[in-house]
Amino acid sequence: MIFKRKLPIPQDIKAQFPLTQKMIDDRQKSLEELKSVFEGKSDKFVLVIGPCSADNKDSVLDYISRLRTVQDKVADKVIIVPRIYTNKPRTNGSGYKGMLHQPDPTKEPDMLEGIIAIRDIHMCALRDLGFSCADEMLYPENHRYLSDLLAYIAVGARSVENQQHRLTASGMDVPVGMKNPTEGDISVMMNAIVAAQHSHTFIYRGWEVTSEGNPYAHAILRGFTDAFGRCMPNYHYEDLVRLNETYHQMGLANPAVIVDANHANSGKKYLEQIRITHDVINSCKVNPDVRKLVKGMMIESYIEDGAQKVDECTYGKSITDPCLGWEKTERLIYDVAESL
Ligand code: PEP
Ligand code: MN
Repeated sequence: MIFKRKLPIPQDIKAQFPLTQKMIDDRQKSLEELKSVFEGKSDKFVLVIGPCSADNKDSVLDYISRLRTVQDKVADKVIIVPRIYTNKPRTNGSGYKGMLHQPDPTKEPDMLEGIIAIRDIHMCALRDLGFSCADEMLYPENHRYLSDLLAYIAVGARSVENQQHRLTASGMDVPVGMKNPTEGDISVMMNAIVAAQHSHTFIYRGWEVTSEGNPYAHAILRGFTDAFGRCMPNYHYEDLVRLNETYHQMGLANPAVIVDANHANSGKKYLEQIRITHDVINSCKVNPDVRKLVKGMMIESYIEDGAQKVDECTYGKSITDPCLGWEKTERLIYDVAESL
């Protein structure tokens, strides 16, 4: 390993790129609204929605500005939390690892530029568009570069069994979604929720720390792959009823699930996200317990339908998982709001 240079710590980056009081207040407002959903005090439906990866500042902010217009029209029923996913887990380690590694996906990695770029894009979304957004916590030690900006955090399917992710999540004051692991074992996800909801003492960035426990830690169902590599869904009515039973047997705080409509639930057939979203809403309609449990959906969406290779450079088209394009997304959000 070559140690190339020492990077600024989160405290330095936050001092260099500080939030205004208005940004702090706007984020606090979003966070409180979201927390009241996870506490069961509000029955607004949450949509964690946006590109699989935030590959380009201009197109991602263009996309989020479109969400702004829609959010203002559906605000009485739907809470939109845009996805700005700045670091990507890769199945075999190769390929684009996100804006944190490569602020320009066609150029070599530059981690200092990356740290600044991810803070900048999240700051623009909050300052210019009033959105405190979602990101994945892929690297727990990097969380504090963005900790004052985010309203929602996901722990991915490949990280959910990792102790440092669970302990770090236990020290955060925002809703954290624990995904089921890629092979689908629900108990791994539930154990991650238990761990995150409790207090722990551990080492974090060279400090001895004690977390308070995060009562907003909850489940995300994203489908799974079986022993033959086939995608298997877990968004169906029976899956939701079973998850509700499991939650109540375990006596956890704030039983909640966000259903991820893409990934192994859609088999990455991005158009299926529309049908899956309606299917989940229908399950909510037939069973009030399911409606109480299901807090919303995660949807992978961008300006253009589908996905492309990194070097193809079509504006607003995903370079990681295939996404639903803008027109279909806009329709879907209005349909969701109407059907609730
Ligand atoms: C994602 O949300 O883009 C993602 C990588 O999800 P998962 O961890 O479920 O594969
Ligand atoms: Mn994805």
